Amino acid sequence: MVYLENVIKALPKVEQHVHLMGSTRPETLMWLFDEGGMRKPFKTIEGARRFFRFRDFPHFIEVYKTVFRCVTKEEQFERITYEMLEDDARCNVKYVEASFSAPDHVREGLDYELMLDAINRGAQRAQNDFGIRCNLRIDLVRNYGPKNGMQVLDWIEGKRENIVSIDIGGSEEEFPPKPFAPVYQRAKQMGLHLVAHAGEAARPESIWDAVKYLNVERIGHGVTAVQDLELVEFLRKKGITIEACPTSNLRTGVVSSLRDHPIRALVDNGVRVTVNSDDPSMFNTDMNHEYLQLHRYLDFSIRDLIQLTRNALDSSFMQTGLKTQLRRLCENEHQRLLEEVE
Ligand SMILES: [Zn+2]
Repeated sequence: MVYLENVIKALPKVEQHVHLMGSTRPETLMWLFDEGGMRKPFKTIEGARRFFRFRDFPHFIEVYKTVFRCVTKEEQFERITYEMLEDDARCNVKYVEASFSAPDHVREGLDYELMLDAINRGAQRAQNDFGIRCNLRIDLVRNYGPKNGMQVLDWIEGKRENIVSIDIGGSEEEFPPKPFAPVYQRAKQMGLHLVAHAGEAARPESIWDAVKYLNVERIGHGVTAVQDLELVEFLRKKGITIEACPTSNLRTGVVSSLRDHPIRALVDNGVRVTVNSDDPSMFNTDMNHEYLQLHRYLDFSIRDLIQLTRNALDSSFMQTGLKTQLRRLCENEHQRLLEEVE
C-alpha cells in the first residue's frame, strides 16, 4: 500500500480548478495581517491553522472574507501565486489553471492590471524554480450580476496573454446562469474558453442551464449531475468535462462521505472527469491527497488515476505547443510508473 501511494504521488498531474485565494497558506495570512497593519484574530501560527480549518459553511465564508480583506497591496499576489504553485509542484502538478476572483479586490480599491502583473510575476518565478506552468481562469463572481461580468471583460480585454477562460463562482441558487448568456457570448467572441461552477449543491437544472445558455465546455463540481441520467448522457455525448473537487464537497457537506461521491458513477458512465483541490488551504487538501482519496475510498486504480490526468490534459486550455510537450512528458512518465507497478 505504501508503495502504491508513493507511485500515486509520483504521477505527473494537471490541475484545472483551484482558487488563488483559497490557496493562501496560514503563514501567509499572518504576513498579510502584518503588512496591512491589522490586528490578527489569532496570535500564533497554530492559531492561524485552527482558524483555517473547515468547521461549517458560515465559518468557511468568514475565512474567505478575512483573506480577501487582508490583501491590501497588489504586489501581495506575487507571493500567493508563487506559493500556490510551489504547493502544486510538490504534488508533481505540471500545469495549473488558477481561478482569480477580482471584483472584491477592485471594490477594496486595488488596481486590476497591477494585480494581474503581480500574479504573472509569481507564476513566472514558480516556472523558473519548479518548471510548473500556469494560466488563469477569470471568475466573474455571479453574485455581482451580468453587468459586473461585462465590466470584468473590459478589464481583461487588453491583458490576455495567459488568461484562458471565464467562470462564474458564488451563490449558485440565488444567481442562476441564464442572465449571464450575453457575457459568455462576448467572452467567446474574445476567444476565451467557457466554464461555470454548476451543480455543486444546486439541482441538475443549474447544470442544464449552464450548458444551454452559457455553452460551457467544462463544469466546476457538477456533483448533482448524477441525479439526472439524461443529463449524464448529454454530458458524455457532448464531451463536456466535469471538474470534480471531492474533498471540497465532503468538507462543505455536499456529500456525506467520499464513498458517496458521484465521481465514480460519472467515470463509469463515460463522462470526462478531472480531479481538483478547489481551495486547498481551507479544505486541508492538495492534489496528492485528492488522488490518494480516490484510490482509498473509490477504488481508483493507477490506470484510472492516469486517465484523470489525461482527461485534464485533453480538456485544458493551454497553448497547443505546451499541450503536445506536456502530453509527451506525462505519457512517458505514466508508462514508466505503470511498468514499475504491473
Ligand atoms: Zn471552485
